[in-house]
Amino acid sequence: MRFEFATATRIAFGPGVLRELQPKQFGKQALVVGSRNASRLAPLIEILERDGVTFTHYAVGGEPTIELVSRGAEQARDTQSDFVIGFGGGSAIDAGKAIAALTTNPGDPLDYLEVIGKSKPLTNPPLPYVAIPTTAGTGAEVTRNAVLSSPEHRLKVSLRSPLMLPRLAVVDPELAKDLPPALTAATGMDALTQLIEPYVCTRANPMTDALCLDGIPRAARSLRRVYFAPDDMEARTDMSLASLYSGMALANAGLGAVHGFAAAIGGMFSAPHGAICAALLPPVMQANIEALQNRQPNSERLDRYGHVARLLTGNEAASLNHGVNWVRNLCSDLKIPRLSAYGITQTDAKLICEKAAAASSMKPNPIALAADELHSILIEAL
Ligand SMILES: [Zn+2]
Repeated sequence: MRFEFATATRIAFGPGVLRELQPKQFGKQALVVGSRNASRLAPLIEILERDGVTFTHYAVGGEPTIELVSRGAEQARDTQSDFVIGFGGGSAIDAGKAIAALTTNPGDPLDYLEVIGKSKPLTNPPLPYVAIPTTAGTGAEVTRNAVLSSPEHRLKVSLRSPLMLPRLAVVDPELAKDLPPALTAATGMDALTQLIEPYVCTRANPMTDALCLDGIPRAARSLRRVYFAPDDMEARTDMSLASLYSGMALANAGLGAVHGFAAAIGGMFSAPHGAICAALLPPVMQANIEALQNRQPNSERLDRYGHVARLLTGNEAASLNHGVNWVRNLCSDLKIPRLSAYGITQTDAKLICEKAAAASSMKPNPIALAADELHSILIEAL
């Protein structure tokens, strides 16, 4: 057994934990990366003012582009910011992470980007980065990559470095209590997917297994609850923890076909990442299980799918299909749209499947899927 595990330097978790943040320890001048709507930043600004930290705000609306993070890095340099705080959903957290890295690594960001750039390693450590998620889904507060979109390539690519792990992740479930139900559903389904895929993937290790095995039942018992009762703080706390675990698991094990597809679709269509993952999760589980049963019937991956089915349903006798159907029913209760709702049609399938097959997330999928299997998955999710 050999593995490595890396995560944020420090993690502060729990309802109300944001109020205990002492930002002064990271410097006097901060760059706050977050929502265009400055009123959403109020709980953070109160703490910065209390601690005597001055700041400038850099607004992020939607998923960050390469250009957006380059301009953010410029602002951090111009204002001589000592550190960066990302406050918001996955887009804000990733934008802040990339900005902290590019501030100290100037030049063309393409030098450091994978797929469309030169994939050069970062030479300088990023500015200290504090990640404060206000949704419960992406786990980006503990990952070492930032997903950026390149509109001209119609691609999403990662800026990635072990140096980009945040210095501090503040995970306060109270920050998610005003999240609208559709966003709660999409982000929560992302967290659930990011617990199932690392657990069944080929690079799972005992530490990521431990996180997934504790996280899957939390998401299973709490996602519906928090969708129908947004103020249920016990369920919100479960989802925040599930999301945190999911980020640790994916960063240290990997993902699978759902995220391979999501990377391809996310670069081509404007659709929320979590909702894409949710629509694909049941057909991908089904296809992986069938491919394993046909080609590797003794695979330990099948036992893992069996375990997932028992954890999701809470039923010791649950079959593999029970697990898949449980996820299908959850998607329908949470009103997850089908992929056709985002304008994706059968004519896009070939290109999406080609891009998905080449995506880095596809590699640790529990079994290599053939082109026709990928195609059937996508058609089922339309
Ligand atoms: Zn995801």
